[in-house]
Amino acid sequence: MLANDLAELDRAHLIHPVMSWRDHEARGPHVLAEGRGAYLTDASGRTLLDGFSGLWCVNVGYGQDSVVKAATEQMMRLPYATGYFGYAAEPSIRLAARLAELAPGDLDHVFFTLGGSDAIDSVVRFIRFYMHAKGTPERRHVISLARGYHGSSSTGAGITALPAFHRDSDLPLPWQHHIANPYPYRNPVGPEPDAIIAASLAEFHAKVEEIGADKVAAFFCEPITGSGGIIVPPKGWLPAMREACRALGILFVADEVITGFGRTGPLFACEDEGIVPDMMTVAKGLTSGYVPMGAVLMSDAVYRTIRDGSPEGATIGHGLTYSAHPVSAAVGLAVMDLYLDGGGLLAQGQRVGAYLGRRLQAFADHPLVGEVRGRGMLQGLELVTDKAAKTKPDKALGIAGKLAAQGLEHRLIFRAFADDMIGFAPPLCCTEADIDVLCERLGATLDAVL
Ligand code: PLP
Repeated sequence: MLANDLAELDRAHLIHPVMSWRDHEARGPHVLAEGRGAYLTDASGRTLLDGFSGLWCVNVGYGQDSVVKAATEQMMRLPYATGYFGYAAEPSIRLAARLAELAPGDLDHVFFTLGGSDAIDSVVRFIRFYMHAKGTPERRHVISLARGYHGSSSTGAGITALPAFHRDSDLPLPWQHHIANPYPYRNPVGPEPDAIIAASLAEFHAKVEEIGADKVAAFFCEPITGSGGIIVPPKGWLPAMREACRALGILFVADEVITGFGRTGPLFACEDEGIVPDMMTVAKGLTSGYVPMGAVLMSDAVYRTIRDGSPEGATIGHGLTYSAHPVSAAVGLAVMDLYLDGGGLLAQGQRVGAYLGRRLQAFADHPLVGEVRGRGMLQGLELVTDKAAKTKPDKALGIAGKLAAQGLEHRLIFRAFADDMIGFAPPLCCTEADIDVLCERLGATLDAVL
């Protein structure tokens, strides 16, 4: 089909997520046709370096034969098996066991979803069952971080704390609360880790006090804030918050939908600080975007409490038709093999992620760049118009969007966030040479917009 015809059909029929619909109709789609490794070919035949792994999900890169083979074979053998009524398919059981083995601590029980948003929703459901089973059903409130993103469902969008996701809705819901992000670059207490951690703890305790210590159920956070601007908390912040939650009987939920599966170096970002959450959400890199899948990993203690504390014979009334989908699970197993087998992509991502971080630091001197930050294959540049004063670019300038558009001109895909941030999350299959290409194209892009 001709590119123009496709664009017209898109404008007429396809609703795109998280966009101004008016702007989209004015611009039309950028149609992608094929992918191989870290590179995409668009409908006009141009080859683009995908510096964002689709939507920070195609961690193993495009065109991995073993993944395609696993999906095809599973589709031929058994394309669907419900988990309802006690049925199961082999890949789903094996993937659950593999995740339990790979995840930190006693996160031994796995509930599969279709992606990250319904993993967050599932956590909320499980928290309700848990608190009832413990005999503390009044613990209903949850606290999360400003600028946190926890999906777009009617519940998760309120745990999310980004204004676009609350507009024209009744969100956040009365049981959803937010505290400041431990954001070193622009923190009112300054950049010192100890001061930031102390301020976060003080605000958390004050919020718990305000809600009522016996009413708070859980604290949700991303180990590194993703969509809110790739914000890396100071070292020690994660364990301090985890400990505060433990002391107060508040469940600690780590949302590793972006950070999971090698994005920041280790398999899970929680490992970097040696913490074990009560529940963990994953998606994206779980199947590397080849097919949809997410999961909730639950500690043994939480699992047993729900199991043993629920009334005899009572149904745990939460399920999805496509939970533990066998094709997705077969893909997940093939993706795990790519990460881990024989000097796999996890190790490559660690090596190349360190190189990416070093290479991007060279842009810290650029007049448009206030800070370069991130970890591993998750990096971002915060944009300013005056470095010393850390002046945010005027919204009307639309500078991040202009950079992303210029990036495309230079055959590089990255993400523009709000008005002052661009982000990079290349596939773990990138080599140092691919990162050189990325940085060369980024340099030309920045200079073109200056
Ligand atoms: N949690 C985090 C941290 C995310 O970044 C995302 C998506 O980007 C989600 C949850 C929601 O995942 P999904 O888009 O698969 O529903």
